[in-house]
Amino acid sequence: MQRLNIVITGHVDHGKSTLIGRLLADTDSLPQGKLESVKKMCENNARPFEYAFLLDALADEQKQGITIDSARVFFQSKKREYIIIDAPGHIEFLKNMISGASRAEAALLLIDAKEGVAENSKRHGMLLSLLGIKQVAIVVNKMDLVNFSEIAFTKLKVEYSEYLATLGIKSDIFIPISAREGVNLIEHSASTPWYKGPTVLEILDSFKSVEEKENDDFRMPLQDVYKFTRDNDDRRIYAGTVTSGELNVGDEVVFYPSLKRSKVASIESFNTEVKTSVKESEAIGFTLQTQIYVRNGDVVARADQSAPKVSNRFEANLFWLGAKPLELDKPYKIKIGSAQSTIYLEEIKRVIDGDTLDRADEPSVGRHEAACVIFRVHDLVAMEQFGENQKLGRFVIVDEYDIAGGGIITEVLEQYTTRR
Ligand code: GDP
Repeated sequence: MQRLNIVITGHVDHGKSTLIGRLLADTDSLPQGKLESVKKMCENNARPFEYAFLLDALADEQKQGITIDSARVFFQSKKREYIIIDAPGHIEFLKNMISGASRAEAALLLIDAKEGVAENSKRHGMLLSLLGIKQVAIVVNKMDLVNFSEIAFTKLKVEYSEYLATLGIKSDIFIPISAREGVNLIEHSASTPWYKGPTVLEILDSFKSVEEKENDDFRMPLQDVYKFTRDNDDRRIYAGTVTSGELNVGDEVVFYPSLKRSKVASIESFNTEVKTSVKESEAIGFTLQTQIYVRNGDVVARADQSAPKVSNRFEANLFWLGAKPLELDKPYKIKIGSAQSTIYLEEIKRVIDGDTLDRADEPSVGRHEAACVIFRVHDLVAMEQFGENQKLGRFVIVDEYDIAGGGIITEVLEQYTTRR
C-alpha cells in the first residue's frame, strides 16, 4: 500500500494529540479493543475520556515493546497509509528533515479557533517554509468553542494566510474542525453547513507522495572510471550506483556537466553475471562503444530522457552543525551526488534558531540554526531540486575536515558568471 509521511505541527494545547487520536479512532486504525479499553479505564478512574489518551496508551505499548514501530504513528484511509513523523525535539527534527534523512511530504498546521494565531503558529509556519514542505493544510481546531462561526473562521484565515504569504507559503487550504467532536475530519459535518471545502482526510488523500512526484529518469553519479588492465584493451568501466531509473545495453548516455556522450556497450554488475539492464539502487559499471574521458562526479543520464540541471548557483534550506558559524564568502567544501567542489555562501535569506524557532538576524548561520540561503559553487555541477530527485537534490558541507552542515536544494538558479 502506498504511504505518505506527514507532520502535524501546532502550538501546545491547540489539540494536536486529540486530532491524532481521533484520526486513528475514526479511520479504524487502532489495535482492536484499544478505544474501548482506554474509555473503560477513564470510567474506572472517574476521568473524562480524551482522545489524546489513545496516544499515551500506544506510547506505553511501544515502551513495553508490544508494537514494533516506535516513535511513528500510522493510520490509513481507503487510498493509503499515513505515517505521522513525530517531532520530539525541534533540533533533531530539523536536522533529520533538512538533511533529508526523514522526510515529511505534507503537513497539517493546527490553530486554535478561540485563541487565534499565536506567536508559535507563526514559528511553525516558518518551520514548514524552511523544510520546503509545499503541501500544507491549516486546520482551525476547537470550532465548537466559537459556535462554529463562519465569521471567526474567515477572520483567522485572512490573518494567517497574510502571514504565510510573507514566507512564500501559498496555502489557501483552511479547514474548520473540532478534533474533539470529530467535525470535518473524515466526513463533512452538519455543524458547518457553510463550509464546502475538503475534510482533513480528503485533503490528505489529495496530497501527492514524493514517489508520485519524483522524476524516475535514469541517473547515476559517476564514482570511478577503471581501465582494463589487459594489453590491447583500451576499454574503460564507468562505475557508480544507480540513483533512479533504468539503463539498458544500447542506450545512449550523456555525462553532465561535461556533455560527453556515447552508447552503452555492456553492463557489468559486481558479484553477479553480466546484465543487459539495471535499475535503481544497483551498483554497476558499464562500458561504452567509444572511450571518452570524464571526471568522477559527473552525472550520467540517458539521451532519450530528461537531463539533470547544470549550474553553479542554487537556493537551499540547510541545517548547520559546525562549531564555527557558516559565513558569507568563505570557502567550504561541498558534496552533491559524487561531485565535490568549493562553495561560497552568497546570501542568507532567513535564519531560525533550531531550538526556540525564533528568527535570528545575524549575518551568519550558527550551530543548530536552520536557514534559507543562496550558494555559489566554484565548478559547474549537475544537480536537481530535492522535490524532483532526492539523491541529487541533497548536499553536505565540510568545513576543514568535519561535516558542518547539510541541506536540500530548493531551487537551481541561473548560472553565475564571473565578470572580468
Ligand atoms: P496538544 O498539546 O496540541 O497535543 O493538545 P491536546 O490534544 O492535548 O488538547 C489540549 C486540550 O484541548 C485538551 O483538553 C483537549 O480536550 C482540548 N481539545 C482538543 N480538541 C478540541 C476541540 O476540538 N474542542 C474543544 N473544545 N477542546 C479540544
